[in-house]
Amino acid sequence: MVLRTDWTETGFGTRAIHAGQEPDPVTGAIMTPIYQSSTYVQASPGDFKGYEYSRTSNPTREALEGNLAGLEEARYARALASGCAGATAIMGALSAGDHVLCGDDVYGGTFRLMDKVFANLGVEFSFVDQTNLDAVRAALRPETKLCWIETPTNPTLKIADIAGIATLCREAQVTSVVDNTFATPYLQSPLALGADLVVHSTTKYLGGHSDVVGGAVVTNDEAWIERVQFVLNSMGLNPGPQDCFLTLRGTKTLHVRMDRHVRNAQAVAHYLEAHDQVSKVIYPGLPSHPQYELAQRQMRGPGGMISFHIRGGLPAARRFLEAVEVFSLAESLGGVESLIEHPAIMTHASVPPETREALGIADDFIRISVGIEDERDLIDDLAQALATAEHA
Ligand SMILES: *Cc1c(COP(=O)(O)O)cnc(C)c1O
Repeated sequence: MVLRTDWTETGFGTRAIHAGQEPDPVTGAIMTPIYQSSTYVQASPGDFKGYEYSRTSNPTREALEGNLAGLEEARYARALASGCAGATAIMGALSAGDHVLCGDDVYGGTFRLMDKVFANLGVEFSFVDQTNLDAVRAALRPETKLCWIETPTNPTLKIADIAGIATLCREAQVTSVVDNTFATPYLQSPLALGADLVVHSTTKYLGGHSDVVGGAVVTNDEAWIERVQFVLNSMGLNPGPQDCFLTLRGTKTLHVRMDRHVRNAQAVAHYLEAHDQVSKVIYPGLPSHPQYELAQRQMRGPGGMISFHIRGGLPAARRFLEAVEVFSLAESLGGVESLIEHPAIMTHASVPPETREALGIADDFIRISVGIEDERDLIDDLAQALATAEHA
């Protein structure tokens, strides 16, 4: 066989399986080994084979990075210890006095990192509804360095116009970052839409099996990847080789899993929308979604996340969440198993109550990560739990 290293012209599934992957040069092992080594011998001081210390680089991590770059069709990727480490690596390149313009409904940990860590170091943040391009334009300042976009947002699934915001940013010489965790590179390509950086929590769909925590930063910008690598190495944001191996095992089936996540989510969203006990469903694949047209244009599928409001307030929400059997009541998302949760009490408890209220994260609000089980079983489970919630 011929050892192929360039997978840039191949389809998504081929890249998911092969990009960054080469048989082990020593043994021919088809899977990149877990190089569980902190250091590497040198023939003479400074004469080494590309690796000197595993905080800086590690062969298993490099294989994953090549794969992540392949998924986003980008030149560079860095794998990090978590999604939050990825955000830290980007914001760690800023200085006191710099301003960051962020969406008003971002992952709670991202908000906390900005509001409670980087704000204390003198970085300034403002938060706007990024579904409104005029609001984004108006909020840019001369000292704005970064525009942080999350789309679809968590948990209200708002869709921001990546190309529109990226154009505004380029005109203002602001770096645009897209958190692509919810959509995944299979369904959305921020770099192709003009964004400068992509950040991921690989803990979610990329890992896909709820068994590893990780993050990534992906870009075509050489200066930015050097900054990210510098912060990663300086702050020690590196992932371990075993975690990289697990994440790599997940990315190989991303395309197959996402097709089923989307199919199941579309069916569940339709089911919920037609149910008397449900007052409102938010899913980018439903024409009732406020940015349905944009989602159709910008994404290759509406994803596996659904939010909805149940009738009967908190008591009904509690009864419903206590009654599910196939869905697991848990935080996180993107795994093969279906998860369900109550954002106001669970994932978004740290969001100030007035912000929660403004965003619609109320006591009747429920978020679902639709897994890849059989559609019938998921809908049957929701049906029985909704019936239990109704008959208190
Ligand atoms: C989970 C998540 C993060 C943070 O990732 P961790 O791996 O938990 O650190 C960031 N953004 C989004 C959209 C997430 O869902």
